[in-house]
Amino acid sequence: MNGGLRLIEHPLAHHIVTHLRDRTTHPATYRTLTYQLSLLLAIEATRDLATEEKEIQTPLEAAWGRVLVHTPLVVVPILRAGSGMLQPFLDVFPDVSVGYIGLERDHETAKARSYYCKLPPLEGRPVFVIDPMLATGGSAAMALKLVKERGASDPKLVCIVVAPEGLEEVGRTHPEVPIFAAALDRALNARKYILPGLGDFGDRLYGT
Ligand code: URA
Repeated sequence: MNGGLRLIEHPLAHHIVTHLRDRTTHPATYRTLTYQLSLLLAIEATRDLATEEKEIQTPLEAAWGRVLVHTPLVVVPILRAGSGMLQPFLDVFPDVSVGYIGLERDHETAKARSYYCKLPPLEGRPVFVIDPMLATGGSAAMALKLVKERGASDPKLVCIVVAPEGLEEVGRTHPEVPIFAAALDRALNARKYILPGLGDFGDRLYGT
């Protein structure tokens, strides 16, 4: 799969993004919408998972079908907001391992710095880094670097909204990584929030 942005073009995705943007959407609804949209994104991002043939018996006769190759996929939320996109991956796929990466901004350098990194084995497994808001791209680029250092050969990034600045940064640092998202927004404001955006994703998800 080539790098670059893959926007999901589905009427339901557009509908959900609009309600996520709406400032009057309450946290409980926001979490449900996030679940639904993340499921659509998970389906798109896993289109090239390997399958193999399997013979089974239907109630009527023998038949051949295809099943997922038994390789656990690894989902890596970037804390805290990424955890809001995790559940659909766990619900839909039969075999999933979860890693967590916690990043904070270093006040000296203004760069992302890892304060927590717990990853399962990544070699030979499909790896999905999930981070709803790709703003400056610093956190996503750092998370991709960490998973690559730990053996991920073909990681994918799954977001909800991306800003041009974030796209450029991930494209510069990890040009081969595909980025799945539901919306490409206009720009960042002075405080590095995406415009028009959704506001602070974690705050809206958890009501903080
Ligand atoms: N993180 C958020 O939660 N929102 C933004 O707009 C940018 C980063």
